[in-house]
Amino acid sequence: MSFPAIAIDGPAASGKSTVAGRIAARLNYTFINTGAMYRAVAWRLLQTGVDPACVGGVEEALPALSLSFEKKGTVSAVVCEGRVLDEELRAPSVNAVVSMVAAVPAVRAFLVGKQREYNLREPVVMEGRDIGTAVFPDSRFKYFVTASEEVRAARRAAEGVVDSIAERDRQDASRAVSPLAKAPDALLVDTSDMTIDEVVDFIIRDIRSKL
Ligand code: C5P
Repeated sequence: MSFPAIAIDGPAASGKSTVAGRIAARLNYTFINTGAMYRAVAWRLLQTGVDPACVGGVEEALPALSLSFEKKGTVSAVVCEGRVLDEELRAPSVNAVVSMVAAVPAVRAFLVGKQREYNLREPVVMEGRDIGTAVFPDSRFKYFVTASEEVRAARRAAEGVVDSIAERDRQDASRAVSPLAKAPDALLVDTSDMTIDEVVDFIIRDIRSKL
C-alpha cells in the first residue's frame, strides 16, 4: 500500500511552510519541512567546525551525522545529536550557508533517502524545493507556491530575520542537482494577493478532488 505524498515546493518566504503545516493538520497527515533538514545539516557542520564550502569535508562529515525526527501532533521536527532543533535553524549563520550545503549531491542523496523513507510509513505533506520534481516525481499532488519578490521580502522582514532570500533563490535555482523548479504537472499557486486560508482551502479542494 502506498500513502499519499503531498508535494509543496516554492521559493524562500513564499508562505509554503505555513500553508503546508495547515494542510497537514486538516488532513491529519504528517507535515515535513525538508528545509529544516538541510538547515540541520548546515547547523551541525558549523557547530563542528566543518567548512561548508569544502565539498570533501562536508561529504566526510555526513556518515557521522545523526538525524532523526520527533512528531508533535501532525508536525515532524528534526532531531540532531539528540536535540530537537527549532530556533537555531533560522540563525543568520545558517541562512548564509544552507544553499551551499544543499548543493552538495551527497547531502541531497542522504536527505532524499530519509524523506522517501518517511512516506513508506505514512501519508505526508512535504515542503521544499524539489519534492515534486525529484523526491516524489510520481505524486498526483504537486503544488508550486510562490509570491512576488516584494511580497516575499516583506514577509521575511516582518519576521525580523536576516535572510537574503533573493540570493538563496538564485543559488537554489541554479545548482546542478535538483534545482528549485516547478514540476511541469504541479499546480502554480501565486499567493501574493491571497490570504493563508484562501491558499489552504484552494489546495485542499484540489487534493480532495483527486483522493
Ligand atoms: O525552506 P527553507 O527556506 O527553510 O530551506 C532552506 C534551504 O534549504 C533552501 O534555501 C535550499 O537551499 C535548501 N532546500 C533544498 N531542497 C529542499 C528544501 C530546502 O535544497 N527540498
